[in-house]
Amino acid sequence: MTASTLPFSEEHNIFRASARRFFEEECAPEQAAWEAAGMPSRGIWKRAGELGFLCPRLPETYGGIGADFLFSVILLEEQARSGAVAPMMSLQSDVVAPYILHYGTEEQKRHYLPRMASGECIGAIGMTEPSGGSDLQAIRTTARRDGDDYVINGQKTFISNGITADMVVLAAKTDASARGKGVSLFLVDADTKGFVRGRNLKKLGQKACDTAELFFDDMRVPARALLGGAEGRGFGQLMDRLVEERLMTAVAASAMIDRAIDMTITYTKDRKAFGSRVIDFQNSRFKLADAKTEATVLRVFLDRCIRDFMDGTLDASASAALKYWATEQQCAIIDTCVQLHGGYGYIVDYPIARMWLDGRIAKIYGGANEIMKDIIGRTL
Ligand SMILES: Cc1cc2nc3c(=O)[nH]c(=O)nc-3n(C[C@H](O)[C@H](O)[C@H](O)COP(=O)(O)OP(=O)(O)OC[C@H]3O[C@@H](n4cnc5c(N)ncnc54)[C@H](O)[C@@H]3O)c2cc1C
Repeated sequence: MTASTLPFSEEHNIFRASARRFFEEECAPEQAAWEAAGMPSRGIWKRAGELGFLCPRLPETYGGIGADFLFSVILLEEQARSGAVAPMMSLQSDVVAPYILHYGTEEQKRHYLPRMASGECIGAIGMTEPSGGSDLQAIRTTARRDGDDYVINGQKTFISNGITADMVVLAAKTDASARGKGVSLFLVDADTKGFVRGRNLKKLGQKACDTAELFFDDMRVPARALLGGAEGRGFGQLMDRLVEERLMTAVAASAMIDRAIDMTITYTKDRKAFGSRVIDFQNSRFKLADAKTEATVLRVFLDRCIRDFMDGTLDASASAALKYWATEQQCAIIDTCVQLHGGYGYIVDYPIARMWLDGRIAKIYGGANEIMKDIIGRTL
């Protein structure tokens, strides 16, 4: 693994060892079964909760252990290292729960967070719609106030955990005539009348994770479902939280790069062609030297961004630059590693082929990389 400069303590190292065991022994072996089912089992969420691996950063009052951000980094690194794409625990812990922790009312926090930490309540975030995901200010799902309720109509697509989710942080327009200022977030229970799940979408990779369409047909939710109790704050909340989501995407990218390089070094040391080891060809060594150098450069940038995030100074532009850079490197390096595996690199029984398929989405979700460049460009 590329050496990290982060201040991991003994406590972090012990946590890492048990996270590694969990992903290697309880998640990685189940991927094929979960792929066949199109989603992970509910049981694994409960198990992750029992072990303290869900939402560890939540304060104890809300079911967490009050851990620091490095615990989240460790969990994501170990999951990526194990090759287990499901369950999407970071989505629960680092994306969905923080919306409620940061913006929710006390009632909302007490209602959802302890059950999210125990794995009883699986969360999802519903932003993207069939008409577009990059332009979030243009969403068409509406939430019309009606007495003490809101009536929500519209649809979402590509929603991770969409089939398994018990609750969705849902972006809807409370003022359809406005752009960003009209967006509000709602905490919506999946058993609400009018909440309809569509297809579990067939993807190129990450097949053990469910990614679904959601439809809302005159779905009536109480006014207390409005996140934080005030309308029109949703777009700002999304933009704030996406900083952390993009940082986590880069954490996963860096860990996957390390895994791809390690497995390719092993493979090219073992594989022979023209009477020598594949790693003995100068081309192979140069490609791997490039990859190792790029991984190290990324690690330095990533560590700086993690420190800035922990200090509260990571801004949207730096987080966008990191996400864009990390995921471009991830895809390019994994592609190189596929090439160095020859034909076996294209066979999905080989982990490197899966990494190529699973990783491609990283340049698209959490904000496409073109949008990341736009965010950086606006600061120039
Ligand atoms: C597996 C998977 C999981 C996902 N999980 C979730 C989830 O949990 N929740 C959720 O809400 N969404 C999720 N998404 C959706 C994802 O975030 C969107 O696909 C992404 O934001 C892009 O939106 P889009 O697909 O509508 O593409 P579009 O917005 O239609 O973009 C199409 C192309 O145009 C480019 N483009 C758009 N605008 C500009 C511009 N201004 N300048 C330059 N280029 C531009 C884009 O970069 C892209 O290349 C997921 C998607 C996938 C595939």
